[in-house]
Amino acid sequence: MFSYRHAFHAGNHADVLKHFITIQLLQYLNQKDTAYSYIDTHSGAGVYELDGAFASKNAEYDTGIGPLWNLTDMPAPIKEYVDLVRAMNPSGKMRYYPGSPYIADQVAREQDRLRLFELHPADSKLLADNFRKLEEHAAAQGIRPTVRGKRVLVTRGDGFAALKALLPPPSRRALVLIDPPYEDKQDYKKTKDVLAEALGRFPTGTYAVWYPLLQRMESRQFADKLKQLPAAEWLNVVLTTKKPTPDGFGLHSSGMFILNPPYTLEPMLKEVMPWLVKALGKDSGARFTLEKGTQATGTRNNSER
Ligand code: SAM
Repeated sequence: MFSYRHAFHAGNHADVLKHFITIQLLQYLNQKDTAYSYIDTHSGAGVYELDGAFASKNAEYDTGIGPLWNLTDMPAPIKEYVDLVRAMNPSGKMRYYPGSPYIADQVAREQDRLRLFELHPADSKLLADNFRKLEEHAAAQGIRPTVRGKRVLVTRGDGFAALKALLPPPSRRALVLIDPPYEDKQDYKKTKDVLAEALGRFPTGTYAVWYPLLQRMESRQFADKLKQLPAAEWLNVVLTTKKPTPDGFGLHSSGMFILNPPYTLEPMLKEVMPWLVKALGKDSGARFTLEKGTQATGTRNNSER
């Protein structure tokens, strides 16, 4: 049950896609003063050591943050993401990589609320410890009064089961990130079911789902299932970095499916994705797809390169 550890995959191309989009979604919410909730149903450990035993085992960051680390000329949304990773590595050496909770902590404001769920006993402890250190560090610098138990709540538990009780949030503004391991194929169905329920309780929330594109049927059919959910609008972006290997080993493609995306997201992705394909692409299989649709009209648009 607990075989997945995100530390093995930290900073790979899938994390780049997920994390730069998450930053953009949070920044969009930052445009209005009203507080929002960031809910991370599958948080991981929050911070990863790239020179630690887990991350260096397969050095997956070489497919993602690695090739971006020393670049100077990047589209603004990628630069914002790389700058956030650089800021946690003041020595200039790429040692630490942020998980989605750390990213949200950095981008969200004082008034916003972070609700973080992690089921793995070791990773939920790491997550809580990492946030304790962040708060101590910030308090020591006088940046932020201690906010434990108010701004950030870390819970060891099942994020699928917990989401319902948090919706709708008091301010009626929220970003929900759903990022399960999908090692258990039930995660596909659970994600779709939890979204159907969440949309019933809070139809105007923004929901971002990361998913892998694998050979298993549940994975290949997943985006089409999400398109059937009763969201006013959706956007589906897939990044492929290389051709699949004949044995199907390794992750070459992953997607972010966003329900109720901000109107700014699609034009931004049209600008950035061709650049990202060039930066992270390994062979002629590298490409992206971008689709959007509405509940009323179904799929409307498809950019591909
Ligand atoms: N969102 C993180 C990030 O971007 O940095 C990475 C999350 S990782 C892909 C998935 C995490 O979900 C793992 O740490 C795993 O232990 C955890 N997990 C698995 N099932 C869960 C559940 N039902 N509820 C909460 N966490 C779960």
